[in-house]
Amino acid sequence: MRKAVQATIMKSPNSAVDDFLRLRMKTNVSEVAQHLGIAHSTAAGILMRLEKERLARREVRGSKERRRGRPATVFVLRIERPVAVCLFDGTQLTGAIVDPDLRILARDTRRILRVESAAQAREMVADLLESLLESTNLGRQDLPRMVLSINAVPLEGRMLTSSVLPWVDEEIERRFSEALGLSVHLVPHCALAAEYQAMDSPPPSSLVRFNVADGVSAHSMSGGVVHQGSHDLGGEIGHIIQVAGGPLCGCGRRGCLEAYCSGPALCARALEDLRQPVGSSLRDVDLADTSPRLGVEAIHQAWLSGDSYARALMEDVFERLGWGLGLVINLIDPDHVAVSGYVLAGKPLWIDEVIRHSQRWILHAARRRLTIAPARATLEGELVALACGFSYARRGAKANRFSETRGDGTGEIVGRPA
Ligand SMILES: [Zn+2]
Repeated sequence: MRKAVQATIMKSPNSAVDDFLRLRMKTNVSEVAQHLGIAHSTAAGILMRLEKERLARREVRGSKERRRGRPATVFVLRIERPVAVCLFDGTQLTGAIVDPDLRILARDTRRILRVESAAQAREMVADLLESLLESTNLGRQDLPRMVLSINAVPLEGRMLTSSVLPWVDEEIERRFSEALGLSVHLVPHCALAAEYQAMDSPPPSSLVRFNVADGVSAHSMSGGVVHQGSHDLGGEIGHIIQVAGGPLCGCGRRGCLEAYCSGPALCARALEDLRQPVGSSLRDVDLADTSPRLGVEAIHQAWLSGDSYARALMEDVFERLGWGLGLVINLIDPDHVAVSGYVLAGKPLWIDEVIRHSQRWILHAARRRLTIAPARATLEGELVALACGFSYARRGAKANRFSETRGDGTGEIVGRPA
């Protein structure tokens, strides 16, 4: 992959630095020089040109940072206009308005138990947008576009999505645009970019985000290039069938990894078991009418208190996820794996268990220079990554995923995932 990066640089150091800044969001001269293998003076010249063109701004750090030997000046990416961002993750809805200097002007997170219809989802987003606008000085005219991030991928006219989002269909951009009176663009996810941006300098050359939430996935990037695959379906490890004829998965097949280990699957399994006399401190009411996020939390508390049912259930989950993680490491051979998603986030003992179970599946596990750690990206980081990713895709970046199809009048769809 390093070779591929070098080939890009031979072509144009300017666009290689530009691409790297878009991906990294915040960088400095030495990091750029090291990552791209170019002279410090070349890197500095290009970053200063980007600053002059108002595509980056310079941030000078205090003397404390300098004493620690860190570069005093960082260059931060800029976007053209403020963008509204809305992130639906199945169990919560977060909205934000991000300004051209990538500062979050307003933010609001709402827990959602269940969304029954697209109309209900539109109402929730409209209400969220209203409250965001109220807390800033911006009006709708300053904010002609909204990025809507949902775990959904359009493929040959059909929308592939998680089973917890049954209301998502091919019409989602048009219907949301009409309902909100601004142009709404569907973007699949930016969490991997946010993770890359949160990593210390120098960032890993090969990174995997192993995510266990409403689904299970392992998106990856190497040499500064995100691996999306030809159909945006790269990294979908949750749909590798582990047990033929196992439980039904949201994808319509049986026995997928996520049919055992995702948050909703975990809660459904526990709920079914608890209807039998299993002898557990967990009660089915703790899991019945709640979001999978809170249900998993209840299982975690029971596990921490030594509940034998929770221990047995999770032993099976750790074994399955350990297998999945081992598979990912054997396939991708990353430097770093960031473990994320509400099933494992904030649960260091569970992460340790998954890592422990993965070891026997990994080829030459002891010889690798591999780090596996909890993800660092915050929700704020993900919102900003969405705003940048979208803004730059619209400008016709190399990895363009959107194409202009119409003017930018409010209510019209101006871009569609290509
Ligand atoms: Zn599946």
